[in-house]
Amino acid sequence: MSTNDHHGEDIESIGSGSGPGAAAAVTPPALLHRSLHQQPYKVSSAKGIYLTLDSGRVVMDACGGAAVTCLGHGNDEVLQAVTRQMNTGVSYLHSLTYTTEAAEQLARHLIDGPHGGGRFGLEKAYFVNSGSEAMDAALKLARQYFFELGQLDKTRFVARRQSYHGTTIGAMTVGSNLPRKAPYACFQLDTVSWMTPAYAYQYSNWKQGETEEQFAERLVQELDRHLQDIGPEKVIAFIAEPLVGATSGCTPAPHGYFKGVRQVCDKYSILLILDEIMCGMGRTGTLFAFEQEHIVPDIVTIGKGLGGGYSPIAGMLVHKKIIDVLQKGTSSFNHGHTYQAHPVGCAATLAVQKILRRDAMIDNCALRGQFLHSLLLETFQHAKYVGHIRGRGLFWGIEFVKDKATRASFPPAVGFGIRFQSLAFELGVAVYPGSGTVDGSRGDHAILSPPYNVTEDELRKIVHVVKLAYDRLEKDIDDAADESGQNKVETPY
Ligand SMILES: *Cc1c(COP(=O)(O)O)cnc(C)c1O
Repeated sequence: MSTNDHHGEDIESIGSGSGPGAAAAVTPPALLHRSLHQQPYKVSSAKGIYLTLDSGRVVMDACGGAAVTCLGHGNDEVLQAVTRQMNTGVSYLHSLTYTTEAAEQLARHLIDGPHGGGRFGLEKAYFVNSGSEAMDAALKLARQYFFELGQLDKTRFVARRQSYHGTTIGAMTVGSNLPRKAPYACFQLDTVSWMTPAYAYQYSNWKQGETEEQFAERLVQELDRHLQDIGPEKVIAFIAEPLVGATSGCTPAPHGYFKGVRQVCDKYSILLILDEIMCGMGRTGTLFAFEQEHIVPDIVTIGKGLGGGYSPIAGMLVHKKIIDVLQKGTSSFNHGHTYQAHPVGCAATLAVQKILRRDAMIDNCALRGQFLHSLLLETFQHAKYVGHIRGRGLFWGIEFVKDKATRASFPPAVGFGIRFQSLAFELGVAVYPGSGTVDGSRGDHAILSPPYNVTEDELRKIVHVVKLAYDRLEKDIDDAADESGQNKVETPY
């Protein structure tokens, strides 16, 4: 994905002071940023949905970074929880020897109770520091499960094209966000294969009239056939995001797809790992995105909205079926990180999750999400370059196309997604851009993923500004096409 060059100021112009020509030599930052030629905006303070930049400009954060800040920025209760934890003096302990109330309670909170994973047989929580680490943990745990069962031939994973599972070598090799992987093809495991994305707008045979259900059925059959081809006795797990996040822009699977996938996994004794790092923890209007698919995974990974940005935390919830096998086997998970279940991180995260539950914020997310959806439809459905609006809860993707009739994308050189994001940012609203939406090179989208406590007024303001940005971009693109003669129409008389 092209978020590497998505915004910021040219390094040359930073601090160059008084107007054109004054560009003095500027010391490059010591920090290695995503881009070596652009400096990201420096943010000096944040509160709720607003970021205040160093320059004094205020920006509305309509995407919470990458759908991370579910509570908004600068929450006082979370600050107090962090301070309380640090005041005990217990900021770090080694998890081999010690545990903390903060970590134990956080796990309880996610497993037990009316909303927890326990309802689905998910009975243990494991905390790490990033989504990629959570995915690596899930891959290793899944392998260990079969290792302990003596099924040593199980070495393969099956995932899907156009999906993102993280940036570490393990997580990267099961993902297929192609632009992010290109230099590291040499690390690619030959034990991973990828299925067709469950992305009806671009991958169904809509031109031939294929329905959503037929598309789902076709993909499930594809998975079944593929497993037969490679030998299901060699496969550890199927891996999927219930809603594909950054790669294709909040894409839910077609109706019936995940039920079919679960059945195929069961038929061949293959584990199902759902990556809910972006779409989970309430983002789609239920605590877990899989609840809306009426299936249960064997492992679910969670991240972004788990800590809401207050600490670098992610994790996995593990089904009883796996724990039981470990229990009868080695009785341990053969994995660990120095900072796993970090006390300060867990205290911050527990505070975030308690607030979400106390204030019924996930219900609010579902409700406000319906409002946002109708607002987006009303505002954009007739827009010339808006091909598809999709999502759930407060997780919405707008896919831009050059031609709505054929669903053809803009050529990548147009940079539609990035230009849209930077125009919206200039007008005061931050959205999360994406390109390579369709296949890793073609396609553009933008994600709106505001905090769960966003108000209807704020949503109106966001959509209003985003439409202004869109209108400007539409005009720029049409003007450029006029200049190059592309829009000349032959008059028929
Ligand atoms: C962000 C993300 C990851 C990786 O999480 P990091 O915290 O960036 O390592 C994995 N899977 C999905 C679906 C994500 O959106």
